Amino acid sequence: MQVYHSLFDVQKALQEGTISCEKLVKDYLYRIEQQKVLNAYLEVFAEEALQKARKIDQKIAQKEPLGRLHGMIVGIKDVLCYQNHRISASSKILENFVSLYTATSVQRLIDEDVIIVGRLNCDEFAMGSTNENSAYGAVRNAYDNSKVPGGSSGGSAVAVQANLCLAALGTDTGGSVRQPASFCDVIGMKPTYGRISRHGLIAYASSFDQVGVFAKNMDDVALLLEIMAGKDDFDSTSSSKPVPAYSQTMAFDGKKEALKIAYFNNALTHKGLDAEIRTQTQALIEALQTEGHTVKGVDFPYLDHIVATYYILTTAEASSNLARYDGIHYGYRDDEAKNMEDTYKSTRTKGFGKEVQRRIMLGTFVLSAGYYDAYYAKAQKVRQMIKQATEELLQHYDFILLPTTPTTAFDIGDKAHQDPVSMYLEDIFTVQANLTGIPAISIPLFQHTNHLPFGLQIMGRSFGEANLMAFAKYLLKQHNCRQKATVV
Ligand code: GLN
Repeated sequence: MQVYHSLFDVQKALQEGTISCEKLVKDYLYRIEQQKVLNAYLEVFAEEALQKARKIDQKIAQKEPLGRLHGMIVGIKDVLCYQNHRISASSKILENFVSLYTATSVQRLIDEDVIIVGRLNCDEFAMGSTNENSAYGAVRNAYDNSKVPGGSSGGSAVAVQANLCLAALGTDTGGSVRQPASFCDVIGMKPTYGRISRHGLIAYASSFDQVGVFAKNMDDVALLLEIMAGKDDFDSTSSSKPVPAYSQTMAFDGKKEALKIAYFNNALTHKGLDAEIRTQTQALIEALQTEGHTVKGVDFPYLDHIVATYYILTTAEASSNLARYDGIHYGYRDDEAKNMEDTYKSTRTKGFGKEVQRRIMLGTFVLSAGYYDAYYAKAQKVRQMIKQATEELLQHYDFILLPTTPTTAFDIGDKAHQDPVSMYLEDIFTVQANLTGIPAISIPLFQHTNHLPFGLQIMGRSFGEANLMAFAKYLLKQHNCRQKATVV
């Protein structure tokens, strides 16, 4: 069975007749079935995917015009609506809920002949960093089934990692695309806030949420972003800035164009950072310096405050967003409840998992009359300071380099991470991009001596996705440490 890692290879094979789209989908369905243990998919749309594949085959045979994404088999995180298909946000409270409409991001892909093969497991309402907070069971890392894949878009990362789809959609509120990408050895990209419409995305924290992409090569990431990005009348926060033809602007010659790149000294010396992640990241920095780029260490003064700021603001937004799941409007209702108040209480007690309940309570607390100024209002101010400092830095530098995660993937059920605060600290390097809205990407460059992969994170200027992706593509080609290790 041929496994394809890029849309280019798939479309070439389809045109040459090496494979039919139907066979391609059957192969994916076969692998999904074989890898059920990973628990990446909550539901597979097998029949429908096969039907769509036959239509593509017909179009090819009759030389009819094809969408730009024909042959691309995609899985979507279970927080993105797809009309007449179930969506649960991996929560019991939305069990058996059926989408009434399709998310704009998903619709734009469908309009280009993508095939959606299923919906992917994630942490409940996208809250988590391990995918253990799903009401439908943990997802397993395909590298080592005893390890977490990261979260919250763990199912999306694993599906791409294990070739259970060619690309996947996730969402990133505080790192949920980049962190699992790092743990699973795939590319994960979060564009600028507002670059992709959030219409049809189940909200966690609306001023942070963005749709993101998982894939195995930069050309696929660029094409998917180009197709999904752009103004949408259904989302007033979507940007009307014109969308560059990302897929055409991926050429970057690192040798000729010297870049200015910053990295955070206090991130690389952070006590929570794995020693080897530090040394390998430092080695890459030196390689870039040798190549003629200006790569400078700076201190980012707010590093130790970003996680607290993120959790105050996102839990506040979550407590408001999740108020709608009350047993009356949507999904699950506890039928044993005796009156209205009891219905609200017991529906939400039984319907939401522990982590979601914790965040609703925390968010309600920071918004409550007596504590609003001390927590919520203060965190808003700190967010503004973080944003200003980051933007100022990006006026002088093209990119900021950081590790994506402080550690490699850890064990499912790991005791050290059972305390929620230690889990929240896992997000230390990823939440800055969401607090400030800038685009960021994790690329699979490294392998630890514990054999697990880890990524490099690059943050770029607002709406600077084209440069960010071109640089990422260059690094993947020229500085892939594992490639070098095997070649030498
Ligand atoms: N791990 C972070 C959290 O739990 C990020 C989640 C996300 O980006 N959706 O909030």
